[in-house]
Amino acid sequence: MAASMESKRRAARVVASLRGEYPEADCALRHVDAFQLLIATILSAQCTDERVNQVTPGLFAQYPTPADLAACPLPALEKAIQSTGFFRNKARNIQACCRQLVERHGGHIPRDLDALVQLPGVGRKTANVVLGTAFGLPTGVVVDTHVTRLAGRMGLTRETDAVKIEQDLIKILPRDEWIAFSHRMIHHGRRICNARKPNCDECVLSDACPRVGVVPNAPSAKSTRSAAKPIPSSSPKSKKPKKTKQRTSLATADSPEQPRQPVSQRAPGRKVSRRSSPA
Ligand code: SF4
Repeated sequence: MAASMESKRRAARVVASLRGEYPEADCALRHVDAFQLLIATILSAQCTDERVNQVTPGLFAQYPTPADLAACPLPALEKAIQSTGFFRNKARNIQACCRQLVERHGGHIPRDLDALVQLPGVGRKTANVVLGTAFGLPTGVVVDTHVTRLAGRMGLTRETDAVKIEQDLIKILPRDEWIAFSHRMIHHGRRICNARKPNCDECVLSDACPRVGVVPNAPSAKSTRSAAKPIPSSSPKSKKPKKTKQRTSLATADSPEQPRQPVSQRAPGRKVSRRSSPA
């Protein structure tokens, strides 16, 4: 169905506001090339970017190429990535993915969406991350948990399925905004429009956003816990966050490409909570 003029106008307003607020938002996963970004994105499912960034330097020092990862002993790979969670599934996918890269693509990352999604462990989101961030190719819009939530609240889509959301966004966003739009939405979702208590008063879109599904003045879990405590008179008032060059994740939790994690695959000392990865 064709996108309405109203949808396109709203999308243009969102694009302009977020561009002004987060002009240099970028991917938070450290990488030096498309291969490293591909592996880091696979590892980022149900895991924080910080944790992935702790694991990948050692991983790539030990296994610097797809051929190295394809040939390494599976238990060694599992051990190397264990702290990212889902380590058995991820290790299997990474190794199978690297074998296909070697056998079918000469050890290179294909610059093609259809070829990328054929690789084990790689779905549209991961493929769009790699093509957009590593190659600058706007093949689609990355839809993760933040983009899903914010696009719904902003009235840019009524869909809940990531693939359908992406199709809605593609219709209303200029192609040259597809890559940066996701970075900025993710950044905005983390800083302002968070899952439990969106800070609409501080939002650059407060005048334009229809706030679909947002409960006005809903108390957050944090504010409820602290309600009984006296507030010291010296407590600083909350300030509007400064504009920064902070990098944002394009590959946050809730990846549809990973199943629910068995207890045996959870990272030691790390709780995996469904509620911590809101839709
Ligand atoms: S106005 Fe509120 S619901 Fe809309 S994007 Fe901003 S924080 Fe989110």
